[in-house]
Amino acid sequence: MTSTVPLSPRLPSPLQEVCDDRFGRRGLRLLLKRDDLIHPELIGNKWRKLVPNIEAAAGRPLVTFGGAYSNHLRATAAAGRLLGFPTVGVVRGQELADRPRNPSLARCAADGMRLHFVDRATYRRKTEPPVLAGILRAVGAEAAYVVPEGGSNAEAARGCRALGGELRGAADVVAVACGTGGTLAGLAAGLAPDQRALGVPVLRGGFLEAGVQALQERAFGARTGSWSLDERFHFGGYARTPPELEAFAQDFEARHGLPVERLYVAKLLYGLTVLAGEGAFSRGTTIAAVVTGRPFPSPPGGRESPDGP
Ligand SMILES: *Cc1c(COP(=O)(O)O)cnc(C)c1O
Repeated sequence: MTSTVPLSPRLPSPLQEVCDDRFGRRGLRLLLKRDDLIHPELIGNKWRKLVPNIEAAAGRPLVTFGGAYSNHLRATAAAGRLLGFPTVGVVRGQELADRPRNPSLARCAADGMRLHFVDRATYRRKTEPPVLAGILRAVGAEAAYVVPEGGSNAEAARGCRALGGELRGAADVVAVACGTGGTLAGLAAGLAPDQRALGVPVLRGGFLEAGVQALQERAFGARTGSWSLDERFHFGGYARTPPELEAFAQDFEARHGLPVERLYVAKLLYGLTVLAGEGAFSRGTTIAAVVTGRPFPSPPGGRESPDGP
């Protein structure tokens, strides 16, 4: 699929092998699929999920939803600035309206995103048609194109199919961290029949199996490809980064020079390392870990600028 959105993405994203003895001594190869290098601002899976939605929006204001540190809100705001369409971010937490903006929301606002804060009860009910209509009225964007929280809808899942396509023939198992599951839904659909996808949810709750399947049914008409979830590595829930995870991430950065995004990518890499240690993969297996993002704010000097294709 060629995109009409002119932002010079680096696609296919680079695939790098890392030598890590925790994998090597088990006869496993570990590859990093560097989706974090696709674009300096529309990072990783956010690029793949947003572009089909931007095309569908066709210049209408784009309204979407997220928490106070949402990578999806930042990517949407950046896309709006770069491509010149209006964006509205509906943010969970009325109390944030009167506080100084955190760096993530400050970036959204600087990129021209209009921020609209709603209380948590309303936020939970945001997909109910009367509640959504009320929010759109409040922001004066009744004719807007609405993208759900985390950016996951059928368009997004179809956009992520290309991630699987880029990995055909390159790995036996492709692993990705999951928030709303749209990336996994598309990835699994794009892989070859002899490959499997493994999702590592970063939220607690065990509801993602049904969510990914529902997204695949809407995007592709049926459950598609071979995929499963391992629910053991959420570390207590979204944005929980206990010292053990922090230590693992710092060590991985020191070993491999990869800036490790903590909320998703660290949990994925930790999970894969545990699974390798448990003997969950047979000798000779090649594992590709999708690096879906990078730390925010970017570490000093850590901002690679992709050349574009
Ligand atoms: C948004 C995000 C994800 C989760 O993607 P889903 O499609 O919602 O599962 C994973 N990693 C990073 C870095 C993200 O920003």
